[in-house]
Amino acid sequence: MQLVCPAGNLPALQAAVDGGADAVYVGFRDQTNARAFPGLNFSEDELRAGIEYAHARGRKVYIALNTYPDSARFGDWAAAVDRAAGLGADAIIAAEIGVLDYAARRHPLLPRHLSVQGSATTQAALRWYHERFGIARAVLPRVLSVQQVERLCAAAPVPLEVFAFGSLCIMVEGRCQLSSYVTGASPNRHGVCSPARFVRWDELPGGERSVRLNGVLIDRFAEGEPAGYPTVCKGRFAVGGEVFHALEEPTSLNTLELIPRLAQAGVAALKIEGRQRGAAYIGTVARVWREALDRHAAAPEAWTVQPQWQQALAAHAEGHQTTLGPYHRAWH
Ligand code: SF4
Repeated sequence: MQLVCPAGNLPALQAAVDGGADAVYVGFRDQTNARAFPGLNFSEDELRAGIEYAHARGRKVYIALNTYPDSARFGDWAAAVDRAAGLGADAIIAAEIGVLDYAARRHPLLPRHLSVQGSATTQAALRWYHERFGIARAVLPRVLSVQQVERLCAAAPVPLEVFAFGSLCIMVEGRCQLSSYVTGASPNRHGVCSPARFVRWDELPGGERSVRLNGVLIDRFAEGEPAGYPTVCKGRFAVGGEVFHALEEPTSLNTLELIPRLAQAGVAALKIEGRQRGAAYIGTVARVWREALDRHAAAPEAWTVQPQWQQALAAHAEGHQTTLGPYHRAWH
């Protein structure tokens, strides 16, 4: 299975490649991708350098263009597709049908991957994207059980990529309205779940910190308590007289123990989440997964999860906790 790692800047891309990523996915410094954080992502020159660095070492670079343009801004997405082709990207990762259609017509030789944001969870949906836009791969949403992934691998007309590690998202991806509701800006159109200009941290007496999104209190942390991303879905709210993570625990997906099953199912690629994370995270996570995958490929029967791998990953997990997420769901 290919290891696909995230990078939000050139040092992170280099760390991913040096750590053993087979491919790195990146975004331009604008709202054409779903990690449009200030100070993150690549200028054209940085991306040219990054692609050169990866290609010199036999690795691939995929460019995420996976947000949803509105009609007034479609030209920005079309221009980004042109830039990706011009830079020699190995694929674009897109979700919106207009963007996929433009890329397929204008740059038929540039491979197209269906983004997780496309939310294709059925054989019929995958077949449609394949027939209509010639997608070469699809990234599955993080809402499927491992049994559902296995069934799709057997039936899908294209190779499948699944999320292996990193922050979770509880929505059927591409359809979340939570931050639109609170801020008017959405992850789908503006590329970020908690736009920085709406985030306000306050120091409270006793060392506590609170975080608000557009004035809405979404969490309060005790002194020294690790803070997750300030998204509405991971906030703590008073419900029925109790304050708790009413929608989602801030915890990271970690499917290390599923490597044998995903390999057996025929999954083509494992994706690490976290373009917003630094080079240290990406370097460590890439190294651990590289070693785990290589050891599994060399001796699948003898393979077991090594405790030092889990320790290294837990140190970089959101909230320092990990979960198998929907993969281990007993119901379907
Ligand atoms: S706000 Fe939460 S549920 Fe919505 S897209 Fe962002 S991470 Fe996913």
